[in-house]
Amino acid sequence: MVFQRFSMVLVLLAALPVALLGQAQSTAKPKPHVVVIGVNGMELDVIRPLLLEGKMPNLSSVIRKGAYGKLRTVSAPNCPRVYSTFFTSTKPEEHGVTGFIVGGITANTNMLKEEPIWSMLSKNGVTVGMANVPATFPVMPVNGYMISGMLTRGKNCEDGVLCAPKLSEVQGGDAVYPPAMKAELLKNVGDFYIDCERMPSAADLKGHETEAIDAWLNKVQLIREQQTQLFDYLLSRHPTEFTWLGQSCEDRTGHWLYPIAPYNAGYNPKINAVRTEAFPDQYIAFDKVLGAVLKHVDDNTYVIIVSDHGIKPLREFEETDPHAHMDHEKTTPVVAKHDFADGDDVPGSFFAMGPGIKHDLRLMGFEVSVYDLAPTILHIYGIEQPAQMRGRVLSEIFENSDKAIAKK
Ligand SMILES: [Zn+2]
Repeated sequence: MVFQRFSMVLVLLAALPVALLGQAQSTAKPKPHVVVIGVNGMELDVIRPLLLEGKMPNLSSVIRKGAYGKLRTVSAPNCPRVYSTFFTSTKPEEHGVTGFIVGGITANTNMLKEEPIWSMLSKNGVTVGMANVPATFPVMPVNGYMISGMLTRGKNCEDGVLCAPKLSEVQGGDAVYPPAMKAELLKNVGDFYIDCERMPSAADLKGHETEAIDAWLNKVQLIREQQTQLFDYLLSRHPTEFTWLGQSCEDRTGHWLYPIAPYNAGYNPKINAVRTEAFPDQYIAFDKVLGAVLKHVDDNTYVIIVSDHGIKPLREFEETDPHAHMDHEKTTPVVAKHDFADGDDVPGSFFAMGPGIKHDLRLMGFEVSVYDLAPTILHIYGIEQPAQMRGRVLSEIFENSDKAIAKK
């Protein structure tokens, strides 16, 4: 039933030229602006010292102006599993994207059994822009644009799992909606990498660890610069009422370059003593991306930063688990992970600021969950929460929840 409604609006949107949707929009009442920035695997234990040292000035300013805290995630959290939960506010078993591989196939948007938020917003006339958000490949029609992110398939990345095809190398589905926007992006932004770099395997590392680590980190930085340029272009040339941007290099760096001590499981001095600042540096680099995004944000815009889960070093009992030291593809020697059976061991994080959101509010305990993001965004736009959604509106973050509701 739900899925039928969801499919119908997509067909309708697909049939409408984007220009026409844009025109219809201009005659409507102004709607709130919301920018969501998703960071894959943001670890508060690593971020807090950086905040104290003044190395994340942009995130610090969001904290001062808004509400923040831990975000309860799902069990055995990973990116597609949690992002699809963000999109639908339903359980992984309900929305169908239970992990990276579902029934032998790489997770993709065609597997979604519940309506995602981009469809609900589009149906309600909100303009939607999404770029590099994980688990959005192949892209789906929206009232605006969508550029896929993690799990995009392409050349040298045929399975689509944790690799980095360039926009021109994408295969097996569309990475850009509307399709005509692809040529525009290639012309004005360039042939950017659509996802973060795949981690090297144990075999690639052996014997030249330092060179391999440096080369990988240089590629990660290049990808981040390209993403910053893409976001800057989209926010200036294609502003939308609802915008969702994604970052995914932090998590990948954490898996194998988390700064651990020799007593931690998996410690290998040839890898783990080389660039001990590499993982914290990812958040300093993210803060610069955040700064570039905040330049486009005014006092009337809501900014929400969310992470799907944290990441922690391996544990004592994983010393004997042959898979514990391997990444999602089981080839990289990893020292940290997030798919612990108890999701409360690796909470995500949530930061929000904007008109009517309380200042300097800390959210305690596990009151806020990944299920609450979609209902809270719908609330900002004055859209009623559909019955299937498991989360709730985070009314405690608003000064006056009535006033915060948008004019419909
Ligand atoms: Zn990960």
